[in-house]
Amino acid sequence: MSANLNETLICGHPLEEYEAMIEKFHGNRAPGLIIGGFMVDLAQKNLPKGELFDVICESMKCLPDAVQVLTPCSIGNGWLKILKIGRFACTFFDKHTGDGVRVYLDTDKMKNYPEIYNWFFKVTPKHEQDGEALMRQIRSAGAAILSVEKVKVDPEISKKEKGSKIAVCPVCNEGYPAKHGEKCRICSGEINYLMKSS
Ligand SMILES: [Zn+2]
Repeated sequence: MSANLNETLICGHPLEEYEAMIEKFHGNRAPGLIIGGFMVDLAQKNLPKGELFDVICESMKCLPDAVQVLTPCSIGNGWLKILKIGRFACTFFDKHTGDGVRVYLDTDKMKNYPEIYNWFFKVTPKHEQDGEALMRQIRSAGAAILSVEKVKVDPEISKKEKGSKIAVCPVCNEGYPAKHGEKCRICSGEINYLMKSS
């Protein structure tokens, strides 16, 4: 069913070239990122050509990097958003109309690919996994483990926060969004990620 691997293209890039791109960006050729490439490719094939789309990833793992490598959408420019839903899926949509497509890892279709199924659902303990067999199956499965559906995205999700005032925190003297309150979220104790230096 799957075409000759040498002819497999991910958004116009030969698969080997795409894998080299993600290795450079992500640090390694993660299985989820190869699948993510097929997902972005499938989404683009189901969208009108030449238009700009925003993306929402439902997973923080791997998928956002596939989007950032293959599209103009990034976390930094705001065209890519991550919702911590934990489903391996992403939605490409027109931010003005909300019309788009959602591509997801199809549980039933994955059953035809035991290496992928057992890896994704963590059926096989990691030390017993055959990494090469998994990669071979991912490459040959391509989009055969994916499904795509038409969706309409809630316009609220695309609204930019406008006119947010910046205040100077009375404790740390750094700028922060005034709507957060009297102090920044660190000085108010709301968020803590830095150890106190002695
Ligand atoms: Zn502060």
